[in-house]
Amino acid sequence: MIIFQPDHNHQNGRRALTAKQHLAKLTDIMQLCHFQLLSLLTPSLRRISTLLCIICLSACQPEPETNNIKDQGVLKVISRNGPTTFYEDKNGMTGFEHELVRLFAEHEGLKVELQTVYSLNDIFSALEAGDAHLAAAGLTITEARKQRMAFGPPYMDVKQYVLYHNRDVRPKRPEDIINSRILVMANSSHSEILSSLGKAHPNLDWNSATDVESIDLLDLMMAGELDYTLMDSSEFIANKSFYPRIKIAFEVGQSGKLAWALPIKHSDYLANALKKFFNKIDADGTLTQLEERFYSHNEQLSQIDSRTFARAVEKKLPRYADLIQSVAQQHHIDWRLLAAISYQESHWNPRARSPTGVRGMMMLTLPTAREMKVKNRLDAQQSLDGGARYFKKTLRLIPDSIKEPDRTWMALAAYNVGRGHLEDARIITQKRGGDPTKWNDVKKNLPLLSKRRWYINSKHGYARGKEPVQYVQNIRHFYNYLEWSELSKNRTPPPKQIDQYIPSNLQQPFNAL
Ligand code: GLU
Repeated sequence: MIIFQPDHNHQNGRRALTAKQHLAKLTDIMQLCHFQLLSLLTPSLRRISTLLCIICLSACQPEPETNNIKDQGVLKVISRNGPTTFYEDKNGMTGFEHELVRLFAEHEGLKVELQTVYSLNDIFSALEAGDAHLAAAGLTITEARKQRMAFGPPYMDVKQYVLYHNRDVRPKRPEDIINSRILVMANSSHSEILSSLGKAHPNLDWNSATDVESIDLLDLMMAGELDYTLMDSSEFIANKSFYPRIKIAFEVGQSGKLAWALPIKHSDYLANALKKFFNKIDADGTLTQLEERFYSHNEQLSQIDSRTFARAVEKKLPRYADLIQSVAQQHHIDWRLLAAISYQESHWNPRARSPTGVRGMMMLTLPTAREMKVKNRLDAQQSLDGGARYFKKTLRLIPDSIKEPDRTWMALAAYNVGRGHLEDARIITQKRGGDPTKWNDVKKNLPLLSKRRWYINSKHGYARGKEPVQYVQNIRHFYNYLEWSELSKNRTPPPKQIDQYIPSNLQQPFNAL
């Protein structure tokens, strides 16, 4: 995949507009002027004017380059950077939309040329200018947008939430958020919702900003610069464990459907290929797997666990980070995974002890410590080293048919509950029509090992099957948090530009942005 990042040399990260984008902007302006003129005309003149404008606008729309996708073998995709779309981790680009695009391109035998931009409007302008074949950016289908672009098949339902922070009483309805500082992304589905709410609640003041992402809005709330923002449930789930104090106030608007956006004029080939692809990944479970991979690990961790972990990363981890990194390097393990496991085991306490006699940083049992030749379980280095080797051994014993990242999740489950139980759960998974090589299916069946009906027929008998599921879930969350905190250290701060009007009562706080 070829990636074009936004150009940081331009003011506020905006790219210089191409001729085609200028044309698209001109089209925008014409649309705007036309709507303003309409209010001055009689109804019959309005109809004629609308007709003329439609003819003129369609003549102005550049011919998109979608017809030659197959010939040139290149799919031009535009998106934005973030945890639900495209972002980079240690292995390169990833993200929910990234994976969908990768699979679609693979399905069609195309190369992907990806361009990431900073604002929704840049996405829409690029589509209108014919600079991209599609936008994969967590976009909600809205009636207003349908005037400007087409949509592929919906792939996810999302709720749209009002979020709040630091309030004793949870706001429950739009009346509760009037006269407050509300900021959303410019041109977002949320700005459309606020515009329509504003009709019934004229005192509802709000702002929209270009060049801010969901994560910036959450940062601004945490910094006390905002009272409320609106966000899709998917964005909220992906981010919430990093912002445990931000909560859902209430749901607004109708549930949204996310889909890829296409230029109004797009090829039949693309529309049909998308239909086939989304049908296929829906039917074969790939779509559910992707949702599980990117969203579910954040769902179950309690807010208290999240906050405690964030504090421990700040206060305790610096004491052990070097040691964890050097042991991880020695055994070719990602240090964040070893850090996440050792936190889950002992909260990074080398003297931890459980009532069942497991001890130390990695909470090794006596037999495991003996097997791994660990002499002193209370020595942090020995415990981490023994635990890392034991985890690697467990990982090696996972059948080859199980690929990453499921392989790591299964190894963690086996590390926690034992390999025998994991195998029993995989057999149950298969019997119940699931895929025993997929963690998402196996984790649904592991809890059955505590039910008589299932464990009496299992080779290794009863197990507290919920525990390994929670164990893996927590470690995935801790791992993600560590990854995210590294990424966020390198992130550029939110730009300081706010679009649209700024109500006078709000100018002071926003000027401080
Ligand atoms: N789905 C939203 C939109 O289309 C953007 C994602 C979000 O901010 O939650 O405007």
